[in-house]
Amino acid sequence: MHGPKTILMFLLAGAAALGADFSGASALEYTRRAVALGPRPPGSAAIRKLQTLIAGEARAQGARVEEDNFTAQTPIGPVAMKNIIARFGGGSGRVVVLTGHYDTKHMLKIRFVGANDGGASTGFLLEMARTLAGRNLAGQVWLVWFDGEEAFGDWSATDGIYGSRHLAARWAGDGTLPRVKALINVDMIGDKNLGILEEWNSTAALRKLVWQAAADLGYARHFLNSLSAVEDDHMPFLRQGAPALNLIDFDYPPWHTAGDTLDKLDAASFTVVGQVVHETLRRLQRLP
Ligand SMILES: [Zn+2]
Repeated sequence: MHGPKTILMFLLAGAAALGADFSGASALEYTRRAVALGPRPPGSAAIRKLQTLIAGEARAQGARVEEDNFTAQTPIGPVAMKNIIARFGGGSGRVVVLTGHYDTKHMLKIRFVGANDGGASTGFLLEMARTLAGRNLAGQVWLVWFDGEEAFGDWSATDGIYGSRHLAARWAGDGTLPRVKALINVDMIGDKNLGILEEWNSTAALRKLVWQAAADLGYARHFLNSLSAVEDDHMPFLRQGAPALNLIDFDYPPWHTAGDTLDKLDAASFTVVGQVVHETLRRLQRLP
């Protein structure tokens, strides 16, 4: 009994180091719980329920949770918004930040539940919290769920990415930003047909690190070599000089339609992105 047990423990330790305990099925289940709340635009009763769910789950996983409340000036007037920050690990050194948005686009004419757009990033980060809980981290890892990623009208410099613009400005002002070693944003990563584009605003060194991790794990076919620029929640941090990267699959036909529903998603896609992000975290923690 002693021999096989030792080998099993060794195998499990190896698997955990590679992030193999990130469960796509669990991430999809978290996503399902968010989508079950219905449309979740900023300021709605549904998004308030989701805020309670996110903060409660993050606290249950042992994170130190901060609720970052602010009022956004939008084309439909002032809207109360909230970023949720969950901190794991100790020390006062540099930090890796994993982010994504949890709001869904405010739409009057259709019932938009944003399974992939808003839902997937929410579920992905909740599963990240579960897999970071109790880890012996070399540095701190922060998870941020952004509010107000979506524009109320047409996307512009002042309409859209409200939460990330607010937090990047706050962190630039309070001295937090220089501590950010890397910020990795995820958006629409649950698509059955997963193809992450190489977002070309993103910091080149981070792109290399992530694409190499994906190749080493055998997932190169999901991490495309087509360069394309996408404005997303990483942009305000890039503009303030922080290294940041966006992981997004923008080839998604139901985007911003009533067809963005759970049946378009696949647990396997969450698993791929989860394992690649965990492997990237491991490599980032080896860097100074
Ligand atoms: Zn969207």
